[in-house]
Amino acid sequence: MLETTIYRPEFVHAMNTVSLIANYQAVEIVTPFLHHTKGEILSVGLAMKLDYKDTWTCYNGQEKSCGKCSACYERLEAFAENNIQDPITYELN
Ligand SMILES: [Zn+2]
Repeated sequence: MLETTIYRPEFVHAMNTVSLIANYQAVEIVTPFLHHTKGEILSVGLAMKLDYKDTWTCYNGQEKSCGKCSACYERLEAFAENNIQDPITYELN
């Protein structure tokens, strides 16, 4: 997780450079949550009254989230940080 956090700003900067070269009209990639943790992002969504029952994070592509992949792990960690039960059902349940 730390490794991807380090490289994300470089990726965004590189993509912005490419989009300025490759398009007739400049496209700017805006990343307001780039330096936020998943828990902080979830907190913003909860404040906006987003219904996380209708969201999907898992990488496995099955009917239910696996609860084991890195995306599920980070999602569950974010809900735990916010002291809220994740409303979706996991394979592990
Ligand atoms: Zn998963």
